[in-house]
Amino acid sequence: MIFFSDFDGTLTTDGELTRDFFEILDHIKKHDKELIIVSGRSLSWGHFLLTHFPLNTCIMEGGGVIVHRDHRGEIVEEPLVGQSELDRLTKFTNGLKGKFPHVPLSADSFGRLSDRAIEFHLMDESWIDEVMKYMDQEKINYSKSNVHINFWCGEISKYLGVKHFLEKYRPELKQSDCWFFGDAPNDQSMFELFHNSVGVSNIKHCLDRLDHKPRIILDGDENIGPKGVLNHMKSLQKI
Ligand SMILES: [Mg+2]
Repeated sequence: MIFFSDFDGTLTTDGELTRDFFEILDHIKKHDKELIIVSGRSLSWGHFLLTHFPLNTCIMEGGGVIVHRDHRGEIVEEPLVGQSELDRLTKFTNGLKGKFPHVPLSADSFGRLSDRAIEFHLMDESWIDEVMKYMDQEKINYSKSNVHINFWCGEISKYLGVKHFLEKYRPELKQSDCWFFGDAPNDQSMFELFHNSVGVSNIKHCLDRLDHKPRIILDGDENIGPKGVLNHMKSLQKI
């Protein structure tokens, strides 16, 4: 069994890694399971997570890149879109910087491979509209979160990243033997297409904005973020 999980708001609480996260890691180790973080954060964050916690694989940039340790223990990056799409993204980003020099790319854009992000909370509404119009014209994919506009070329989603990982690295496992935890709109591809999906209770703040909801929605303060993840893991252990 593999537990796939979003990071921000699902394994963290109000932007902090708490004791609950470390309890999850202990639980995983004790029961000989695997945890794979599936996050919109950058590839460089994936390196950080692999080098600081007992994890073997992270799927980062919203499903755009897998980063894992190979049989020698070396960290290997595997982009899930082709080089031509990565080149198109680099070219577009350079063009964007020339056309909108006042639009700030997120600091972590330097550690990104398959997408980039704009810090739009620092921008005027009119700039945001202009930038999105330009992305539409250039056929660039993008999504808007609370703080960022992420943009990329090619087909990328958390679900495609997880599907690719299972088919290539764990073909003996069925999706139905695995679980996914999430808390926000950028987890929707998993909520839509992955059977065992769980929303931690803080997902209630955005439930009405979701086109696709998780199959199981946890409730109550005792199931916020990592507390909900751990409680659900423990309940499965009892079956
Ligand atoms: Mg999240």
